[in-house]
Amino acid sequence: MNIEELKGLGPKKAQAFANKEIYSAEDLVRTLPVDYEDRRHVTPMAALTVGQPALVKGRVIGIRQGGSWKRNRVLVVTLIDTSSGAEGPGGLELVFFNGYYLSRAFKNGAEYYCFGKPSLGKGRIQMIHPEFSRADEEQELALLPVYPVISGVSQRDMRKFEKQILASAYFRRTIAEEYVPAWYLEKYELPQIGEALMDAHFPSDFADVRRAKKRFLYEDMLLLHLGLLMMKGPDAEGTAFPDGDIQDYISSLPFPLTGAQRRTAEQVAADMESSRPMNRLIQGDVGSGKTAVAEIALYKVVKNGCQGAFMMPTEILARQQYEGLKERFAPFGIRVGLLIGSMSAADKNAVLEEMASGAVDVVVGTHALIQPGVRFAHLGLVITDEQHRFGVRQRSLIKEKGTEPDCLVMSATPIPRTLAMILFGDMDVSAIDELPAGRKPILTKAVTGKSRDKVYNFVREEIDKGRQAYVVCPLIEDSESMDGVRSAVSVYEELGKRFRDKEVALLHGEMPPAEKAEIMQAFNAGDIDILVSTVVIEVGINVPNATVMVIENSERFGLSQMHQLRGRVGRGAEQSYCVLITEDLGETALARAKTMTESNDGFYIAEKDLELRGPGEIFGDRQHGVPSSHIFNLINNPSIFEQVREDAAKVYADHPDLLDAESQGMAKQVARIFGRDIRPTL
Ligand code: ADP
Ligand code: MG
Repeated sequence: MNIEELKGLGPKKAQAFANKEIYSAEDLVRTLPVDYEDRRHVTPMAALTVGQPALVKGRVIGIRQGGSWKRNRVLVVTLIDTSSGAEGPGGLELVFFNGYYLSRAFKNGAEYYCFGKPSLGKGRIQMIHPEFSRADEEQELALLPVYPVISGVSQRDMRKFEKQILASAYFRRTIAEEYVPAWYLEKYELPQIGEALMDAHFPSDFADVRRAKKRFLYEDMLLLHLGLLMMKGPDAEGTAFPDGDIQDYISSLPFPLTGAQRRTAEQVAADMESSRPMNRLIQGDVGSGKTAVAEIALYKVVKNGCQGAFMMPTEILARQQYEGLKERFAPFGIRVGLLIGSMSAADKNAVLEEMASGAVDVVVGTHALIQPGVRFAHLGLVITDEQHRFGVRQRSLIKEKGTEPDCLVMSATPIPRTLAMILFGDMDVSAIDELPAGRKPILTKAVTGKSRDKVYNFVREEIDKGRQAYVVCPLIEDSESMDGVRSAVSVYEELGKRFRDKEVALLHGEMPPAEKAEIMQAFNAGDIDILVSTVVIEVGINVPNATVMVIENSERFGLSQMHQLRGRVGRGAEQSYCVLITEDLGETALARAKTMTESNDGFYIAEKDLELRGPGEIFGDRQHGVPSSHIFNLINNPSIFEQVREDAAKVYADHPDLLDAESQGMAKQVARIFGRDIRPTL
């Protein structure tokens, strides 16, 4: 039922609803109150508490207008209490600023109900702009729902429309038809959907509200699980890789693995040995050594006669990883190839041929790996680094290049566990929650632009000790619309003058890939002292000799982003430093700077980021389709999500496509939550 069929709802209001993605009666009835006003009882005026909204009843004994003509016209209406039937003592002032137009709404001697928040003004108790109605009109004493603000639609309208829907035959016939299995409702003592909706909108007491909320929470968690299970699809039969002792490769590494690396490598090896396709996420803070685990997996798949693909988010990273792998795999006779968009057609064709014939064992690349036309002889393992940059869709595209290959996803953004459940809910998760021994925590300092001289003097000291530095700016070039924001180009010119005796280089995303690669190589080799760049170096770059990270206009970067940037230093044995230079002393900027200076823990920083920005901004609705209200529910109730995991598994095991009569309604709801994009079977 389209909402325009509702009485009193014209095109204007329909548009207001459409702006909030409310199109149907069902959408509207599922727009639940965010709060309730308790108007069940009339509070005697003598019992009012400042700040606590209350309903009062009283007789008008004075109407006064103050202020000069047209400006500051204030209407003050004085009431005496009639809540107990008789006229009580005390008086309450109703204050309406610019309220002269209301003067005729009040009649001296008449009785009114008023609802508002009491405050103190000049020693008297007042209500500023209360809601009011004549006491002889029918007054509903109830818990009144308060709806999310929709501009163009008043709370009164909302109540009216919701009432209409709840009273309609359409509601009883379709919306109120239960879709969650009866055993689930019984198990958790949940009300039926129709009852829950009525209770949520027009409860008779707070117990109704609690019961309704519980129902929707348990329903949401069940549907989230089902959506994730459907995304994942039924367990496929993959290939087992029993050969290749990972210890042989581990022994060749120049360092002993950390406990967390070893544990993760063993989990990966066990996944690979089983015939169920591996689907594992490795979460590890920057510098925790995820690459070594990836190498171990690649080594193993090649020892089983299959190929591995390693997909990186940028060409710079792909190149760097390619160089490293080529060197470390050479002693084992493992052949490594590179496939990136900027290669010449001839080079590309050569490597494409080697991939298709099996002449190359491991291919490192970018999005180029998922282009049509790219074929592998026998792809057994797919590793994607920095997964959240790729998204679910691309992950499945690269998987399709093999037949049920094992999949490993590496994320350097430590995602809070609750969010990981949604973003990667269909995966097993390993955490590398330990840094290699001997790492000194990075010292972080936040300063204002006034200290810029000091900062760059310090950078000079470090360079004189033989170290290297990064300077990151938010913009490539100066922009008129962003006055005061320093750009990489202008900072590069400035530092070129300041450090005439040193090598300063510029790197940004709009440079030709070959030039970028050349500069990165020179920085790698130590030929560049200061690298001025934009966030292109955000992920994965590994130059252990770099010890200083300066972030200009740090207020323009998110917390997680700054943490990523900081992770570029502190990769060697020397003490490393991160300096945030900010011009903005606003609350958010200060809160971020404080978090950065007090912690090096990526998981902690990710939680803070979530707090400061909210999930919608970090993982936009677009990326995963799940509305933020569900993500909020999940974040606040992870234990319920865990609790109903098995219930969802049971529903799914019985009817994986949710197409049977009992599950169809749920399938519809899953589709509503997840959007069209990620429901391959619907
Ligand atoms: P990330 O998890 O950020 O991808 P890398 O795999 O790039 O981290 O590793 C960061 C640095 O730490 C590299 O120089 C790597 O050689 C080194 N490293 C990795 N594991 C260890 C270890 N167990 N002991 C010492 N250094 C290690
Ligand atoms: Mg990495």
